[in-house]
Amino acid sequence: MESTVWFANDPRSVEPGRKPNMAMAWVGKGCVGRCTFCQRFSKGYHLFDLKKFEEHIKELKNRHDVQYFILTGENFGLPRDFAYDVARILKKHEMLWFAGGARCTNFRPEDYKFFRECGCIGLKFGVESGSQKILDIMEKMFSVEQLTAALKVAADNGMLAPLSLCIGMPGETDETIMQTGKFIGEISRMQGIPPLDVAVFYALPLPGAPLYEYGQLHGVIGTEPDEEEQYLIYISDRDSDRTNYINMTGVKTKKVLFWEHMIFYEANRVFYSSPLDKRIQTSENKADNADAGRISKDLVPTKESRGNLIKKVITKNPQIMITALKSPFSYLNGVMCRSRFATKIPRSVLYPIMRNLIYLEYSINLFFRRIGGFITNDRWNRLDIKFKKKKCSHLITTNESLRQINDKIRQSMPAPATLTEKNQILLYKGR
Ligand code: SF4
Repeated sequence: MESTVWFANDPRSVEPGRKPNMAMAWVGKGCVGRCTFCQRFSKGYHLFDLKKFEEHIKELKNRHDVQYFILTGENFGLPRDFAYDVARILKKHEMLWFAGGARCTNFRPEDYKFFRECGCIGLKFGVESGSQKILDIMEKMFSVEQLTAALKVAADNGMLAPLSLCIGMPGETDETIMQTGKFIGEISRMQGIPPLDVAVFYALPLPGAPLYEYGQLHGVIGTEPDEEEQYLIYISDRDSDRTNYINMTGVKTKKVLFWEHMIFYEANRVFYSSPLDKRIQTSENKADNADAGRISKDLVPTKESRGNLIKKVITKNPQIMITALKSPFSYLNGVMCRSRFATKIPRSVLYPIMRNLIYLEYSINLFFRRIGGFITNDRWNRLDIKFKKKKCSHLITTNESLRQINDKIRQSMPAPATLTEKNQILLYKGR
């Protein structure tokens, strides 16, 4: 699990006597933000009872040997007094902890210091993009500069701030993707970690979010109950990744499918653009960093552990082998875009080749799905093909929020004739 690696990066994780298990729990639900791709699951923002929280922590520690803890939720940090009380409880029970969802504007510089002293190893911000245009379309309500400043303070306080991105919003283009790649490269240099482990999601329209409404206004998602039901069946149990993406950017699908890798190609170009300082952790200087106490010594691979890892991948993780065989060009791109070698190949040579390979793989996959759907007449397969074909050809060139863009489209449409239609619009607009 990725989060265990996050903990292993903190030298406190190997303190003698630390109980071995990890748990996660909520201390609040909802968010103060209203990002245009986000459904937010629950209305408003509410906080849980901290007395019950402490009882729960005690039970986890004493009965289940837990001393690694993940705070789930969307908006850790607000209100500040509440966040401080949570941190004090976790400190009291000597938990090492990580907050899995926070807005970068929630904290003052001194807050990071306080949380670190209370056992916090890191905070995960909803970064989403390094392009101001996309942040504005998403209505993130913060700037790239604010994001950079928050990530810098976290790094200066020795805290982890893993990055995750949401790409493919209406308005996304090759240019905004390159801006995001550059941003990731710069942040990675600042954090001292190569841009290997950045989570990239493709925007998925969910009911109640302006992105869903945008899809309906452009006819990608139907507005009749049967059509909406079909869409909901299509997206149920789906990951928000490239294979399930519905293209509403107005950019060719061939380009869009390559974005997930293009971000890493661009980020690595920036990361390796000038000599790395000692603080930056590469496979060559891990041992030096461990000696300097920047990372746990346990994380430095030895000859034996490297050998074990390869053996493990081949024998214990056949899934990786299967993935590589099923999607060879995705796999090739996944390896190449994280390599230093690729940074030496000009974009004009590398990108068209890799983009075409990814598109070829996608087309072959779709072809076989069509045949499979035809033979089995499976409903889910038919829906898959139907929604894969859907796309919106409109290009967004402004920095307006998607909510405002939707409102403008509605104003150019006939006014709702009945109360039901009026109410339906309220539902489309979401909370
Ligand atoms: S994406 Fe994050 S910050 Fe935005 S509304 Fe959702 S939970 Fe809040």
